[in-house]
This record gives sequence, C-alpha cells and structure tokens, in this order.
Amino acid sequence: MSMPLDSDGFLRRECPTCEREFKWFSSPDGEGATPEAGGYFCPYCGIQAPTNSFFTAAQIELAKNVVLRDLVGPELEKVGNSLPRNKRPGDLVSIEFSATVPPKMDPLVETDDMRRVDFECHPSEPVKVLEAWDRDVHCLVCGAPAARR
Ligand SMILES: [Zn+2]
Ligand SMILES: [Zn+2]
Repeated sequence: MSMPLDSDGFLRRECPTCEREFKWFSSPDGEGATPEAGGYFCPYCGIQAPTNSFFTAAQIELAKNVVLRDLVGPELEKVGNSLPRNKRPGDLVSIEFSATVPPKMDPLVETDDMRRVDFECHPSEPVKVLEAWDRDVHCLVCGAPAARR
C-alpha cells in the first residue's frame, strides 16, 4: 500500500500518544537519520514510540480495507463457491452462505498544509506541525526541541 506525500515530500503521521497529526520527511532509502531503538519522538508531546506506530486513522482504515478486499475477499469467495448450490434430494440441510466485502475506498490525498520546522541537531529530518501549534517542536530522532525563531 502506498501512502501519498505532499508536494515537499512529507508523509502525514499521527502520534500514538497524543493523537495529533504531523508530517515527517520521507527520505529516500538510506538517506535519512537512523531512529533510536525505541523509535521516533513525537514533535508535539516529545514521547517516543516505535516507528511503525505512527499511522493516521485514515491510513489504518485504508489498510484494513485493502486487506479485506485483497486477502479476505477471495478467500470468502472460495468458501462460498465450495458450498453446494442447490439442495439435492436426500440432503437434510442446506447451507446458506453470504459474505460481504466492502467497496474499495478512494486513495488518500495529501494536501500542502502545516508549517515546516527544521532541526539543527538532525537537519535531514524536518517535520511539519499544525499551524496553530505554538509550543516546542521536538526532533523526531533525538527529542530535542527546535530552536525558536
Ligand atoms: Zn504526541
Ligand atoms: Zn535531533
């Protein structure tokens, strides 16, 4: 499943702790800073979480939809097709089988919102935060607050 980037190459993320959305820079493979073993720090609350725990609610919904449609859907169909269609004489029971696979969701779109913040400690890992956020912004990699302008 591919997730859209905004026009500056940022990917929308959501902190699993404070549930605020931000964006991190999606570096080409091998060019970004390596996160600590404990994961990335949230730019808002500064709490560290594993790097794979920052999916937004919309990204999780879409991932579930893709799994249901692509993996579960064909299996359900197989089960349905393997069941006897018509009751034959002598059958004591007939089996009713129905399953619904959800319709395909629209792909996500990424708008060019939020304010970019750069870090002196890790210049290769800028973030974007909500325009209204006026408190410290923490570095994803080391958790240090960005210098205020
Ligand atoms: Zn947070
Ligand atoms: Zn840093």
